[in-house]
Amino acid sequence: MNARFQALHSSLVPVAFEMADPPAHTVRRLPVEMNEFLKAIPKVSLHVHLMGSVQAATAVELCRKHGVALPDFDEPEDLYDYADIYEFLHMYDNTALGVIDRDDFARIAYETLTEAAEHNVRYREMSFNPTTHMAAGVSYATCVDGLIDGIDAARADHGVECRLIAAVNRMESPDLAVSMVDTMLANPRTEVIGIGMDYAEAGFPPEGFWKAYKLAKDNGYHLTAHQSEDAPPRNIETALDLLGCERVDHGYHVVESEEIMKRCRDDGVVFTCTPVSTSWVYFGDDHANHPIKQMREFGLKISLDCDDPPMFRTDPTKDMILAHDHMGFEVEDFRQSMLNGIDGSWLDEPEKRRMRREWAIEFDALANGLT
Ligand SMILES: [Zn+2]
Repeated sequence: MNARFQALHSSLVPVAFEMADPPAHTVRRLPVEMNEFLKAIPKVSLHVHLMGSVQAATAVELCRKHGVALPDFDEPEDLYDYADIYEFLHMYDNTALGVIDRDDFARIAYETLTEAAEHNVRYREMSFNPTTHMAAGVSYATCVDGLIDGIDAARADHGVECRLIAAVNRMESPDLAVSMVDTMLANPRTEVIGIGMDYAEAGFPPEGFWKAYKLAKDNGYHLTAHQSEDAPPRNIETALDLLGCERVDHGYHVVESEEIMKRCRDDGVVFTCTPVSTSWVYFGDDHANHPIKQMREFGLKISLDCDDPPMFRTDPTKDMILAHDHMGFEVEDFRQSMLNGIDGSWLDEPEKRRMRREWAIEFDALANGLT
């Protein structure tokens, strides 16, 4: 990082989440390169998974602490080599076995939020999988209270705010999903504000999970789900109409149905899209025909994020760089992505209005400095 950007960036982060007025530095006009610009702009993060955000070195340390066997590797990063989504999920579950104590959860939450703050993420709604940890013998309370410890520490040190999404493992049974929501209801925490759905989609359609979603909705939780990442666009309709989801994670196969695309555009559905991970796992290097590009061109509301940053060797900025270099995103599209992230978040309306107003000013000042 060069000194000029360091000076600019340190003036932006850490930042108080409850700022009342636009900060004085928004009037500065500094020339910045696109990569530096993309790192500096304020960000909402709606699509990152807790275990996917654990740095490889931390995963190795925690697995060793708890005696979890790991495959052979030269460098810790080698752990995160895999051929497909199923190998990825196997590795994901294996590293989760090393996260046991409340302190472990606090550490991994703190570390990922510290990295997020370096990219000027100011607000994140982060997914975690309670049933994955409970299957390893960890109580829901230990898991969630550790995460809250880490969130509190990151807020104090970096000014970043975070809320939690308890995600259903769709490869497990609908009954387990209902029992996950029951556990949430028995252990209420203000930081846990919604449920999601992840793991492999193909062969695991969403409709069986309607009871868990209804129970969560009836008890005031927000709803989202990974859909049409690796399945037809019908899953998006099911998520919106049967499960009651307020936004859609991924959603790329929506481009196969003009009818569903139009409906999503008309209803202002926010899609949380992750360019790097999806190119890696599903769509390869054919970026010219990447569905994210088509979704943007059609006018769908896209909020960019980075999914499982260390596991895909990415971060919040690198995903945006890929979107810029290969998916046609220009300054105005990143501005829209920022605003879509605010719209799609589960913050209250006055807070969203304040963020839209202040962040737009800050974004435009940074954009004016682009060379
Ligand atoms: Zn995801």
